[in-house]
Amino acid sequence: MNTTTAASYATAAEPSAPLVLDGVTLTYPDGDGRLTALDRVSLGVPAGTVTAVVGPSGSGKSSLLAVAATLVPPDRGRVLVGGTETGALSRAERALLRRREIGIVFQQPNLLPSLTAAEQLEVMAHLDGRRARTVRGRVRELLAGVGLADLAHRRPHQLSGGQRQRVNIARALMNEPSVLLVDEPTSALDHERGAAVLDLLVRLVRERGTATVLVTHDRAHLAAADAVLEMADGRLATATRA
Ligand code: ADP
Ligand code: MG
Repeated sequence: MNTTTAASYATAAEPSAPLVLDGVTLTYPDGDGRLTALDRVSLGVPAGTVTAVVGPSGSGKSSLLAVAATLVPPDRGRVLVGGTETGALSRAERALLRRREIGIVFQQPNLLPSLTAAEQLEVMAHLDGRRARTVRGRVRELLAGVGLADLAHRRPHQLSGGQRQRVNIARALMNEPSVLLVDEPTSALDHERGAAVLDLLVRLVRERGTATVLVTHDRAHLAAADAVLEMADGRLATATRA
């Protein structure tokens, strides 16, 4: 299997990539001291590519996504989304940037129990003030894209775990983000269903040119990735896929 050198994904090589982390350090309070969750992490994710991140529990993978999502400001270093230095933005500007440019898929779908699959997606677009007709067309297209065209009227309890995670992915893509951040999306699914959800995710982001970071515990997912990085104690390094 190929390995990808970290250098080819470093900031210098891709200054205009949709997502760039440059020397990011993040610490949390820990008793009398600080725990270093991210230690000088640099990463650039080109449009339409998938960067997989693997590593043991507690190594900083979710922290990496939280910083990339601009949900948590780092202690040091820069996070650039579409070339915009997010550290310079106000809270409100960051919230707007998230809504427009960043899709997030967490481990658990967190769908609203009372809404149908179509409505889960519509809510995202209404938050962004789009026109109703455009929104309906896009909802149909995305649900078809994740193989749920016929289940648009179902509520979460009427869907399987895999189907709920497909709705979750479609919802994250609703506002056409340039960056997609995905945290162990198949951990609640069996291997076969997980692989199907992953294939679909990779196809969608390539078609749409979405720069994607995929945190995964399943090494079977790594074959589809353009780069594979490994977190260990907050440090990000190039990994082998074997
Ligand atoms: P992973 O996703 O790889 O399991 P995390 O990013 O969740 O790792 O956690 C990295 C380290 O930071 C762990 O030691 C974890 O306990 C710690 N951590 C994560 N979130 C917080 C938080 N909100 N406050 C304090 N420590 C945290
Ligand atoms: Mg995690």
